Amino acid sequence: HVPSPFFHTPARTQSGALAILHLRKDSLLPVTLGTDSDGGYAEGPVTNTRFGSFPHSTLIDLEWGSQVRASKVNTGSKGRLIKPTPQPRPKHALSEAAADVASSSPARAPILEAGSGFVHILPPTPEAWTSSLDHRTQVVYTPDYSYILQRLRVRPGSSIIEAGAGSGSFTHAAARAVFNGYPNPQQPKKARFGRVYSYEYHQPRVETLREEIRSHGLDPIVQLNHRDVCTGGFAVDSTDGTPPAADAIFLDLPAPWLALNHLSRSLPQSPLNANGPVHLCTFSPCIEQVMATASVLRKTGWTEVSMVEIANRRIDVRREQIGLSNEGLRGVNASPASVDEAIERLREVESKLGKVESKAARLERVRQQAEQKKLYKEGHLVHRTEPEVKTHTSYLLFAILPQAVPEDNES
Ligand code: SAM
Repeated sequence: HVPSPFFHTPARTQSGALAILHLRKDSLLPVTLGTDSDGGYAEGPVTNTRFGSFPHSTLIDLEWGSQVRASKVNTGSKGRLIKPTPQPRPKHALSEAAADVASSSPARAPILEAGSGFVHILPPTPEAWTSSLDHRTQVVYTPDYSYILQRLRVRPGSSIIEAGAGSGSFTHAAARAVFNGYPNPQQPKKARFGRVYSYEYHQPRVETLREEIRSHGLDPIVQLNHRDVCTGGFAVDSTDGTPPAADAIFLDLPAPWLALNHLSRSLPQSPLNANGPVHLCTFSPCIEQVMATASVLRKTGWTEVSMVEIANRRIDVRREQIGLSNEGLRGVNASPASVDEAIERLREVESKLGKVESKAARLERVRQQAEQKKLYKEGHLVHRTEPEVKTHTSYLLFAILPQAVPEDNES
């Protein structure tokens, strides 16, 4: 099998590698880098964005994280154009991410002048994939899945069940969390390798995700099953059909309580690990769903039932540019004459107030600094939280099924 680019990133960008183009904050675009010979054009395939055209020949053999300037050549009419995936607006994002991916057709050329824009090229990670993937459903975002995976105690070698798989955002994060090497098909029972048993009942989503899992080299880790878990339970589709022996379960379903009777140790082909506790999390947007699930959990032997809501706030830290408007003098015309006039006016007022460093003196200092082109570094460091956005994603309901005690040990 091909090593997954999510676990084994090549030292530099190379042809055939999955890369994430960072266009700007909250706007990322996945691309598979093409070869020079691809399509028979010297520049290779071309990815067009709102920030210009990027022939893949300019994206290959770079250090990850490099800034790449848009091509100065108008490649719009040459090269094979890669059709960018339309980017729906993520639930939390404030940017107009969708607008950044420009045309894929030569007729609609990049909006910026050729060569004037740039992108950064990043290696694939579950976080970058979550921000850039083609959303077929609502997805679980990084602040939620990082908390969920650590509460579920998922670690290298763990076996985790997830349903439904949806767009595969959680799937990628779970695959990285359990990864401790690739199972050897010749010696399947030799060691316990981490596995993600993923379930989805919507056929087109299964097909799209199966192709993504394969092209990301995750198929030895992720076993995707086409199944309705509420009616059909957690049997696996593979030929040997070995049950998952799950240590952890994540349910992102409209009615998780209906799946719970298939998550019992008393079933003949129980999908649960018999030799340890099992940790469970359900992800539900409404409190009524949480109550229905909690009620079934309490009746079926699950313990430590508790609920958490992640209210994530991003903090934006930046240097504020020094300028007239930041000195509380919005509206003062920046021409030298009017600045002098403003300084004079302020001096008159402030001399009466006897301030130590008057606003006028400060303004004068700012002007001198501006003249010495010291604008940026003299800026005040400020931080702001994102403007109020609706931060509620879902309620996370956790529970633990304790390790089964053999009857003859019960004393
Ligand atoms: N966690 C996913 C992610 O991060 O991309 C998103 C999951 S999406 C919100 C819910 C998915 O559950 C949908 O794709 C839906 O088709 C699937 N689903 C709903 N009920 C199901 C069931 N009974 N069995 C299997 N899949 C189900």
